[in-house]
Amino acid sequence: CADSAMNFAKKRGRDNYNFFDSKLQLELERKAIITTRLRDAIRYNQISIVYQKQVHLDKKVVGVEALARWEDQELGLVSPNEFIPIAEESGLIIEFGYHLIEEAVKLLKTWQENHEKSNWRVSVNVSLSQFVKDDFIKYIENMVNIYGIDPKLLRLEITESFLLSNGDNAIKKIDYLKKLGLSISIDDFGTGYSSLGYLKKLSIDELKIDKIFIDDILEDKNDEILVCAILEIGNKFDIDVIAEGVENSQTHEKLKSLGCKYFQGDYFFVPQTRSEL
Ligand code: C2E
Ligand code: MG
Ligand code: MG
Ligand code: MG
Repeated sequence: CADSAMNFAKKRGRDNYNFFDSKLQLELERKAIITTRLRDAIRYNQISIVYQKQVHLDKKVVGVEALARWEDQELGLVSPNEFIPIAEESGLIIEFGYHLIEEAVKLLKTWQENHEKSNWRVSVNVSLSQFVKDDFIKYIENMVNIYGIDPKLLRLEITESFLLSNGDNAIKKIDYLKKLGLSISIDDFGTGYSSLGYLKKLSIDELKIDKIFIDDILEDKNDEILVCAILEIGNKFDIDVIAEGVENSQTHEKLKSLGCKYFQGDYFFVPQTRSEL
């Protein structure tokens, strides 16, 4: 009896092991395929950029966030949540990141020339591996100068992890970007390892409240407390706060009643192509 129990356990252990082993195998294979196909997609300019509008209080548009979209012939639509980390690991993000910034600057230039969408900002997500590159700042400075755009309309979205990554060096870089006149937003605020000390060293322009705090705000008192705390920080430090992922009018009303003034989400606008904008 004891023997057969032991055999059973052994067999189960092996099956579990095989299960995890093959799951891992599949994940590694998908990652390898994505890396290969992503390299071509970037080279042949097959990653498109969509723009999600951001609004002030009652729907006055104040800017857009640029978001990458990739539809592969074989893989179909691949989420940026999946391909951006792979692009980071493989170094492909560097080239794509520069392209993204240039596209944002070009968009600002077009608006400026056509006297349209005046003072709309363009926000761009920056990856840590892009940010730590020595020539990152120089590239941005060049883009701003070559295209002659108003630097305050270009907003870089960074996450808190940047500030922990290389401490004072990161602070200095952000400080320099601020001196160039750029605008800085802290994305996914409150979801990382918050070390709020940077708020007193840097003049940040915007805090973005992550969708995870917004989704259940109507039912979950704890989310409401956290959102209020973020709004209070923004208020005291004179930093704009934007709620991301607002999907319905009740959430919009609730956030307004708590004092939130800026919003982004499918309730207002789903991400649009440049021509749809
Ligand atoms: P993020 O910067 O926090 O972007 C916001 C995400 O929330 C976007 O997802 C946007 O489409 C989604 N979103 C906004 N409002 C709603 C809503 O009401 N409902 C729902 N369900 N979703 C909403 P997306 O485009 O899938 O991007 C995911 C993440 O991938 C981004 O999070 C960002 O971290 C990264 N990412 C996207 N594009 C780029 C890029 O060009 N460069 C870099 N470095 N990262 C990018
Ligand atoms: Mg973002
Ligand atoms: Mg975000
Ligand atoms: Mg997010």
